[in-house]
Amino acid sequence: MNRRVESVSNDERINDVLRRVIDGVRAADRLGRITVVTPTLQASYYLRRSLAKSGLFNVDFRRLEDVAELLAGNNVEGARLTDLEASEFVYAISTDSNHGTALGGERYSPQLQSALHSTFRDLENLSEKQLETLGAASSFQAELVARFGEYRTQTDQFSSGRRVATAAVKVLSRPDATDVSKRLLGTIVLVEVAPVAPELSNLFEALTELTDTVKISVGDDESGSTQSHQQVAMWAVNTVPNEVKEITRQIVGLARDGARFPRIAVLFEDEAYADRISESLMRAGIPISGPDRSALRDTPVGRFVIGLLNVFANDFDRNEVTSWFSSSPVIDPGTGHQIPGARWDAISRAAGVTRSVGDSWRPRLERYARSTVSRAKSAERLGERGESGVEAAESEAAYTIQLLDFVSTLQAHRNKVASVSWAGHVCWIRSLMSSYLDVASVGETRPFERMTNLLDRLEHLDSTGLKNPGFDHFVDVLRDQLNRKSAGLRSLGQGVYVGPVWTAAGCPFDYVFVAGMVEGKFPSLHRSDPLLPDHLKRMIDPDEKVLPTRVRISTDSRQVFESVKASARELRLFWPQTLPGESREFGPARWYLNEIRRLEGNSFLKASELTTSALQCLSIVTSDHAAPELSAHAEEFDQSRIVEWIRSGARKQELPADIQSAALDAAIQYTKARNGDDWTEFDGKVSVKETPSLSGSATAFETYAACPYRYFLSRRLRVEETKSPEEEISLDALEFGTLIHQVLEDFFEWRNAQNELPATAQQESWLQIAVAREIEGLKDEIPGRSDGAWAVDQSRAWLILRQWVRRENQVANLDDMSQVFAEFGFGYGDEPPVEVVTAQGRTVRFRGQVDRVDISNDGNTVTIYDYKSGGSASYSGLDKDPVKNGTKIQLPLYSRAVRRAFPDAEIQAAYWFVRESGSRELKPRPQEYDEAKADQALTEAIDVVAGGIEQGVFPANPGKSRWVGGRSSFESCGFCEFQRVCPQDKQQQWNRKKNSAEALNDYLALAEPDEDELDD
Ligand code: SF4
Repeated sequence: MNRRVESVSNDERINDVLRRVIDGVRAADRLGRITVVTPTLQASYYLRRSLAKSGLFNVDFRRLEDVAELLAGNNVEGARLTDLEASEFVYAISTDSNHGTALGGERYSPQLQSALHSTFRDLENLSEKQLETLGAASSFQAELVARFGEYRTQTDQFSSGRRVATAAVKVLSRPDATDVSKRLLGTIVLVEVAPVAPELSNLFEALTELTDTVKISVGDDESGSTQSHQQVAMWAVNTVPNEVKEITRQIVGLARDGARFPRIAVLFEDEAYADRISESLMRAGIPISGPDRSALRDTPVGRFVIGLLNVFANDFDRNEVTSWFSSSPVIDPGTGHQIPGARWDAISRAAGVTRSVGDSWRPRLERYARSTVSRAKSAERLGERGESGVEAAESEAAYTIQLLDFVSTLQAHRNKVASVSWAGHVCWIRSLMSSYLDVASVGETRPFERMTNLLDRLEHLDSTGLKNPGFDHFVDVLRDQLNRKSAGLRSLGQGVYVGPVWTAAGCPFDYVFVAGMVEGKFPSLHRSDPLLPDHLKRMIDPDEKVLPTRVRISTDSRQVFESVKASARELRLFWPQTLPGESREFGPARWYLNEIRRLEGNSFLKASELTTSALQCLSIVTSDHAAPELSAHAEEFDQSRIVEWIRSGARKQELPADIQSAALDAAIQYTKARNGDDWTEFDGKVSVKETPSLSGSATAFETYAACPYRYFLSRRLRVEETKSPEEEISLDALEFGTLIHQVLEDFFEWRNAQNELPATAQQESWLQIAVAREIEGLKDEIPGRSDGAWAVDQSRAWLILRQWVRRENQVANLDDMSQVFAEFGFGYGDEPPVEVVTAQGRTVRFRGQVDRVDISNDGNTVTIYDYKSGGSASYSGLDKDPVKNGTKIQLPLYSRAVRRAFPDAEIQAAYWFVRESGSRELKPRPQEYDEAKADQALTEAIDVVAGGIEQGVFPANPGKSRWVGGRSSFESCGFCEFQRVCPQDKQQQWNRKKNSAEALNDYLALAEPDEDELDD
């Protein structure tokens, strides 16, 4: 037989042509060896499989690079250079300043290293003369060629695919080439379904030239000719998720009709489809095969190592540590058991841990363990908690110490890194894995094999003679390798093939789905190489034999697409009209449009006409839901039936019986109730079995008055916000307010002990020292903050108090008045609580502390002050309503307490905003405080709040709309810790329901009184 070329024609698929060729060879030589040379393992596998049942005796399927190995035999010395080793050589060369400064040295970056590596792969295929021409193009290119020269010198000891191919070509140029090839390969059938890699192109040509070689090739017809044996169908789908669903549904439909999964392929250009398609098929219970594009970081073992590196890189940042706990299988080497990750997260959060073992974890956990137990013991002494409370606290402390031991030991491991070799660093990682990785819970072995393989390859880098890596470089390389997608294959023939288009060239599938055929994305656009732009490539290699330009790469993609088409029995092409994250619509890919023009027999059809004209060959999908009988999986089946049920009017009795469940009933009931006009148990209508205790603090009652639902969540259900103790920039409002109150209390004690009122300068000086002393005390309580952050708080507090003391004399009228109490307590120790007996006969007891009490020189007037360190905006209007709808009840409560000590004096009262001045400093003005009016308002408000708590009235009342902290919010919600769990339409819900139940009337009258009544 002589050399010949067989083209895939209009009425044969590629496997049919191959069958014909093999049969032709067999007719001349019944038993002789035949080698079918394909571009990929996939093509070899699927071609062999498609021909096997009609007989394949002595037929080998090999990739071109495998043929090169076979022919080259032992003629190439040196171990094969791996990609990782090559990358490390490029790293060494790109950090070297001896070859220039434009492409390395101090300009080194991982991106530059990666760009150099990519360009070096191209340069390896150039001749010396071509390299010379390139180097002469500019000083930039001269440096590029110089660095490449150094790379070649350093990697000379290794073998490469190009060297093997060159050796194979040498064998084929010998006089006995025909005999050698005949002996090793028999008759060669070259399947040319994809462009040949530049380093293999000479070998491919040499094989083509051999006598007896048959080449099967696929034409490249841009006009979109399609085989007559082939059915083609086109879909336009509104979104990518619906496109993926539609493909899954169609595959389920094919399977129902008897199609076998291994004969189906879903192909794409955009790799993002790999996960989308795989997840959708797996949800439908459909097995998949093809390229495995998962990265090691997607496996539990990879997550373990990456999480650990993040913990070390971020100095044990609490968020990194807890994220490692929750995402990876970690064991405590101290116990050998899985760590209690959730509990340790809660403990470290409650302890206020931020980052750094020495500065934060150790001091805060030790303090937390101590204080938890001591608080429980003290509560037990006071009779507030029993023995079990102490036991629980001791258990918490034990967990805390266990956590502290864990992080301390881990830090010791981190500090052990002193190695200067790859093997040393790998040994360090292995020892961490052996101590902390919970092997038993990982289950599958494949991730371990991949990780072991990676660590072996890293260890092996010592043998390349490259300089020893620093720790940081080792971590960078390890991270990069963990993030790289696998180049492996999921067992072929086990399920639907899912992979990029190029991987399926020459694979004879029965059904081929091509997804994502969008303009500009299909085929993928290749970026120009910034180090070797296209114009230089054309100058050096005008035929683009070894340096393909972007135009050439695009043409090659077309060849691959044609091969895929020529191999398929039925083709289904998909055009998603929108893409995730993009607001505009996208037109179809050019090849998609060509195909549709051909099918419609209208070569002038425009893209804009596809969805507006009724085209025979095009199906358009615009809905998120298909009919139930077309569902891809059980979940979609249920969803579709529910959608149908809702569309039909949502009558409960018509809901399919098998979908009905207690959970669904509850969800329907909940949604209806929340969206309805009535106030229900889903809106804070609570059934109260026992009358709750009503002793408490003013703050709790004020909280109820502002929003009963917030009171219910925080005081009844005791739901707490999960705060993240990130490093504080400044003290929070509560801590700062306590600091100011403490200094002012101490200030009074000091000043009161002086024989005469000290000069203002002396008072300022005392305040400055007192603030510094308080800050020092807080440093012990709140370790881990920077000195700068403390200095900011100290300066802020000192400035506020300095200005305050300069104004104090005038504001408090100290010529006529003098302070007699700081922290006047009631309800503590021997001091009786303040009792409020309401008109309904309810008695509520309060305890609290008055910040300051002043008395006039004649003893007739007493003024009560409550210090506030925040702003005064929400305290306006106290002249009209002294308790502001029940949300400001401290002054009348304090008046009652102080009245007991001064039964005959006139009582004045004000909130004192220490950071404000002018009319905003005192609210209300003390002389305008009306004790009787305030007391009556207090009694009425307490009556409503106590009644609401007793009767289980806890509606969510967000209050009026307003700006809080620069954004739109509501009066009650600005600083509410439950904003995340409250519905967005809370104001509409309140407005709809507030008049719907009598039980709400009292609260409504308190929260939203008639404005006229207030004026009266
Ligand atoms: S977010 Fe607003 S409505 Fe919701 S509980 Fe808090 S204060 Fe009430």
